[in-house]
Amino acid sequence: MEHAADTKAVWLHESALEGLLEKHQAEDRQHVRDVLNKARSLSGLSLEDVAVLMTVHSQDLLDELFHTAKSVKEEIYGNRIVLFAPLYISNLCSNECLYCAFRRSNKEVIRRALNPDEIRQETKILLRQGHKRVLMVAGEAYPGSGIDYVLESIDAIYGAEENGSRIRRVNVNLAPLSVEDFRRLKERNIGTFQLFQETYHRPTYGRVHLAGPKKDLDWRASSFDRAMQAGIDDVGMGLLYGLYDWRFETLALMAHIAHLEERFGVGCHTISVPRIEPAIGSDLASRPPYALDDQAFLKLVAILRLAVPYTGIIMSTRENPAIRQRTLELGVSQISAGSRTNPGGYQESSQFEAAQFQLGDHRSLAEVIADLGQHKFIPSFCTGCYRLGRTGKDFMDLAKPGLIKEKCAPNALSTFEEYLLDYGTPEAREAGERTIAAALDGMDGRIRKVSENLLAKVRDGRRDVYC
Ligand code: SAM
Ligand code: SF4
Repeated sequence: MEHAADTKAVWLHESALEGLLEKHQAEDRQHVRDVLNKARSLSGLSLEDVAVLMTVHSQDLLDELFHTAKSVKEEIYGNRIVLFAPLYISNLCSNECLYCAFRRSNKEVIRRALNPDEIRQETKILLRQGHKRVLMVAGEAYPGSGIDYVLESIDAIYGAEENGSRIRRVNVNLAPLSVEDFRRLKERNIGTFQLFQETYHRPTYGRVHLAGPKKDLDWRASSFDRAMQAGIDDVGMGLLYGLYDWRFETLALMAHIAHLEERFGVGCHTISVPRIEPAIGSDLASRPPYALDDQAFLKLVAILRLAVPYTGIIMSTRENPAIRQRTLELGVSQISAGSRTNPGGYQESSQFEAAQFQLGDHRSLAEVIADLGQHKFIPSFCTGCYRLGRTGKDFMDLAKPGLIKEKCAPNALSTFEEYLLDYGTPEAREAGERTIAAALDGMDGRIRKVSENLLAKVRDGRRDVYC
């Protein structure tokens, strides 16, 4: 039966959110500490709690907030960081998003939609670097008839093979679909369906989305309702920070998650926090109306970590290495590496004339991995949960009592070992083996045994082993 939330953001009550921000303007030290105490129990935070944390500005309370986020992150995610690469298949677009280089009227960008062969070539390059997870991205105008292009492209990525290795999980970042098209997408075995609302503030939304189907805030904000109806229980949310007040946006995001939890029993699997970066042909992107400074950005990541402790936070290569490093400590659990944001970008050296926005981190996957190791993080290419159908509510049921760690930790080590053996230089292997040995030393007996078993299989030549 048709539900109002299938087409309208009926859960978005702007005045209630504004009321909360109005009520919590000044920093109330005791209240902040009470909320931080609550957050330590890993049970998440209410909208009001989030509004309280957003007032923090004194250095000592900020340190307490960061410290709490760091300990919650370590408790739930340990030191594992999941790696992926975006794969832009097309920059054709019928929308007029003022911040984006792909918008329809922008003549400064060379348009291109990759065909399945070209997509396979791009995928093979990523496979040769060692990637196992891809985020497929496209503008909102598909060559041919509708969603078929998207479905063929997913098949092309899964179908590419390089030295016996394949991409094991394709997440997608696409425009909103109907329930019927979401069903067809689900049949393609996607991992996460990602979609960023950009802004939940209606006047701002109207000002920056001038034409095309994306003009309709409600259709976009109801996408996850339709996706979940179609059986996609793994969804990724996001905002484009810099369009409007980050505090309003973050509260609206929390309200959106609460709505999905109430209606479907599960919220979102990941949150992305892109900040607007300069983009060719976009004045707005060079001068975002509500630019978020680094301090507020770090605060935002820490607050999200406490508010929805079991939801992964994704950091892209929009950010520079130093900021990425700080956010890893505060809550981020997944990062992209070696990214290109133009279709065909992995094959071509001229990456800029068709790119969506400017990148802040230009390092290769190998360099990012070396840096993670130096900071005592363990790179993970794990796709175990998705392969075993541990998604949506099933994932949360394991995550909340802390059981998921028993799977993630061994799988991170076995996939990292695969990477070292198949793609690592001798120096990378040496450093990586030291990281793995230290991780094993820090594990309790049972998890260590499971990890050692998986590692032995990989060293013995087996691939794609997970628990
Ligand atoms: N076209 C689809 C859409 O808009 O939903 C899907 C992919 S779009 C290429 C991916 C995301 O890039 C957008 O949702 C937006 O948040 C982000 N983006 C666009 N312009 C950006 C910019 N100048 N800086 C940072 N991120 C940007
Ligand atoms: Fe098109 Fe997406 Fe860029 Fe908007 S953000 S112009 S919909 S590619």
